[in-house]
Amino acid sequence: MYLKEIEASGFKSFADKLKITLDDNITCIVGPNGSGKSNVVDAVRWVLGEQSVKSLRGDGGMTDVIFSGSKSRNALNVASVTLTFDNSDNYLNIPYSEVSIKRRVYRTLENEYFLNGEKCRLKDITNLFLDSGIGKESFNIISQGEVQKILSNSPYDRRVIFEEAAGVLKYKKRKEEAIRKLDRTHDNLDRAGDIIAELETQVEPLKEQSAKALEYLENKHNLEKIEVALIVYEIDLINETYQNNKQRIEELNNKIILIKNQTSDTKVDTSKIELLKLETELSKLNQDLLTITKEAERLNGEKNIQQERSKYDSNDSKVHDNIASLAEQKLKIENEYSLLEQELNIEQDYETKSIELVKNLTSELQLVINKKDNLSKEELEKERNINLLEHKIQVITNYLDNGGNLPNSVKAILNNPKLIGIYDVIGNLITVSEEYTKALEVSLGGSKQFLVVENEYTAKDAINYLKNNNLGRATFFPLSVIKPKGIDIETETLLKEEAGYINICANLVTYDNKFRNIILNQLGNVIVVNNIDSANRISKKINGRYKIVTLEGEIIHVGGSITGGCITSQRSMITDKLELGTLIRSKEELTRVIKELNDQLSSLDSEYNLVFNKLVRAKEQLFLTQETVKSKGINLTAAKESLNNTIVELNSLGHVIDSSLSKEEEAIINKYYEQTKLKESTLLKIKKLSKEKDDIKVIIEELEAKERLNNTELRRMEAELKELEIAVSRMDVKLDMYLNTLNEDYELTYEKAKGNYEMELELDEARNKVITIKGNIKRIGMVNLAAIQEYEKVRTRYEFLTLQRNDLLHAKETLLSIIEEMDAVMKEEFMTTFELIQKEFGGVFEQLFHGGHASLKLTEPSNILETGVEIIASPPGKKLTTISLLSGGEKTLTAISLLFAILNVRTVPFCLFDEVEAALDEANVDNFGKYLDHYKSKTQFLLITHKKKTMEYANTLYGITMQESGVSKLVSVRFDQENK
Ligand code: ATP
Repeated sequence: MYLKEIEASGFKSFADKLKITLDDNITCIVGPNGSGKSNVVDAVRWVLGEQSVKSLRGDGGMTDVIFSGSKSRNALNVASVTLTFDNSDNYLNIPYSEVSIKRRVYRTLENEYFLNGEKCRLKDITNLFLDSGIGKESFNIISQGEVQKILSNSPYDRRVIFEEAAGVLKYKKRKEEAIRKLDRTHDNLDRAGDIIAELETQVEPLKEQSAKALEYLENKHNLEKIEVALIVYEIDLINETYQNNKQRIEELNNKIILIKNQTSDTKVDTSKIELLKLETELSKLNQDLLTITKEAERLNGEKNIQQERSKYDSNDSKVHDNIASLAEQKLKIENEYSLLEQELNIEQDYETKSIELVKNLTSELQLVINKKDNLSKEELEKERNINLLEHKIQVITNYLDNGGNLPNSVKAILNNPKLIGIYDVIGNLITVSEEYTKALEVSLGGSKQFLVVENEYTAKDAINYLKNNNLGRATFFPLSVIKPKGIDIETETLLKEEAGYINICANLVTYDNKFRNIILNQLGNVIVVNNIDSANRISKKINGRYKIVTLEGEIIHVGGSITGGCITSQRSMITDKLELGTLIRSKEELTRVIKELNDQLSSLDSEYNLVFNKLVRAKEQLFLTQETVKSKGINLTAAKESLNNTIVELNSLGHVIDSSLSKEEEAIINKYYEQTKLKESTLLKIKKLSKEKDDIKVIIEELEAKERLNNTELRRMEAELKELEIAVSRMDVKLDMYLNTLNEDYELTYEKAKGNYEMELELDEARNKVITIKGNIKRIGMVNLAAIQEYEKVRTRYEFLTLQRNDLLHAKETLLSIIEEMDAVMKEEFMTTFELIQKEFGGVFEQLFHGGHASLKLTEPSNILETGVEIIASPPGKKLTTISLLSGGEKTLTAISLLFAILNVRTVPFCLFDEVEAALDEANVDNFGKYLDHYKSKTQFLLITHKKKTMEYANTLYGITMQESGVSKLVSVRFDQENK
């Protein structure tokens, strides 16, 4: 590799473009003082990245390097320098045979670097030339007056030359980088440590608070799930009884009103008034009877006296007696006859009434019998129905107990107690309300007979059992393996807007939460809609991505294929379980109705007995009355006959009677018998009224007995009513309380709660769980819900920082080992190179000085990485003394010896020396030139010189002048290779 071309424009005195083309030999640049030769060295250093303005001989900013103008030329605003290298030997690690680097600076301080025309960073350029022997501070670029600096520098500053010769700068740079990174790592470690310590104080208390809050939330969630479902269940339970009680209350109220209306208060009262009237009438009649009897007795006395007197006055007292007796007998018979007629009338009246009563009671009894018959028939029918239901219940229960229509393999597994971890078939682990049965059936399809098991090992055991016993095949859902499926949120949001969408199938069924993953796996991504039209529309909307089923059992499969038609009525355990529930409820209802019928029948029995007894009594009474009517009729006929005989007899004696009985006597006899007749009829009246009185008393007694009966029934019903009303009002309070809990604790209406929460536990278990969970919540006490998020935040940060700290510690270890590695390499390389240079140095020195001694010494041999390098030089004939005492020329020659010694050890592509030999005498310049000549096959030399002797060794000579005041020019080029 060699430097092919230097091109500068606007740089320092190079106002015009300057292009120096070089070859790989020795090139000299000559020219008068101040013509701008050293600016070429500056240009090379600058383009290699020199940042120090001072070392570029400026004293302001980097814009000092831009042409600042002259008398005839204005200042420029931009300076640029380009170096072009021949890299055909690939010396530089870049795949180009020619490499150009360029630097440009503007007055605005913009600074740019280019590599082969592409913009790049300074770092890219520095890295490219690292340890290549080309660098702004390399020992092979020596500016004017700086050669002696090699000697005057401190041993430590000098060390750099050896480092560069040893090619350890790249290691040094890597080490520096590693140290910088290590420093940053330490800083980061400190910062991370501080934050971790701070977080550690927060993370534990927050963890506790968060755990407590999470426990609280979990309990709350469980409580909500169980309590809401339980409340809904309790409300339904109470409501059923509540409705029944209400109905019963209405029934009882109606019955009570009916009985109260039936209660013959007024009838009893009317009868009692009538009784009173009869008694008054009777007592008056008894009074009358007394008066009438007294009058009759008086009349009898008067009649006797009159008869005695008439007998006394009569001629024939015997005849008189007979006649008088006949007359009296006639009157007596007439009286008796009229009495008998009255009695007969009364009895006939009784008879008519009795017949009427018997008739009424008979039809009343018939009515009761009819009612009883109807109720008995109804009861019989209901009992028959209940027997049928019981039979059906028994059949379904047996069927379900024996595994229903499950395949034999599945039944065998379920019935094998040795297989642990087998739950049931999926169809048996789900309950669903009737309306969604078809949708569920088709959603599950054949998988409803798949067995849910604990894990894959359980399934394996069961499969082995089937294989060993040749029992067929079965499919398993291991809880530990099956993952839930669902519908993405976007689709679900879209579905909620769609008419006809009902829900996701998994949301319409109830199951034990333990089986959630399996249920969601089967039903979590199945959409239930009302009918096939909605299904088609929705399927299109969601691009057929999910299975859709309708309430009628049609299916639109993923992708759009449709299954439909009628579902053959194949039994399934899901429908069987539903039917069983319905049958049990119907049986309970029938049992209630039969009990009611029984109650009605037993009250009809009492009514029947009552009416029947009355009828028997009425019939007896009728019989007796009819007998009396009969005997009275006979008596009346006999009386009539006797009366007629007496009348005939009297008529024959008529004229005798007229003449035999005085008017007074006749009058008194008539009066007496009139009175007797009155007495008898009064007696008859008394008898009739007494009977009526007795009848009324019986009626009153009956009415009062019925009333007593009614009152007992009424009291029983009123007591039942009261009890029911208390129960209903208690239920009202309970219902209110439940609805309030739903509203206040869960912000739910009953309908919403019923739609979204299903009882998954047995009633008692649910009640106990609610009590336990409430106890838990009370025990947990006050919680800070924000702690959950806060803890997550702090924990994530804590874990992140801990991880980062570990990474940093790891990085630190890596960096330390890199540093160690670099140190080892640098030590070795440095020492090897140092020893080689040292060896060469003595020889070169002796050659250049024609004698004398020189050597190199490490100031700190025990610390190779930092040691300085001492130069010990003793020109011929002079004692070893400090180099500061050497002459200027000696110093230069010693420094040049060192440079050549280095060049012996390390080949560098090119050297740029600015008047390094200025202080040498002619002979030494010649020696210097010879050395250059010796190296020129390996190294390209670019020399700025005033020495003619040096120029003689040059293959190419350039002159730089400053013809136009202030602007450098490359004025002549001489190729003189042959003449050299
Ligand atoms: P010598 O032989 O005396 O060492 P030289 O040929 O090496 O001289 P340089 O030191 O390279 O000369 O050039 C110095 C010249 O460059 C000066 O005349 C100085 O005015 C000029 N110069 C330096 N910087 C600028 C600048 N930014 N703009 C214009 N001219 C500049």
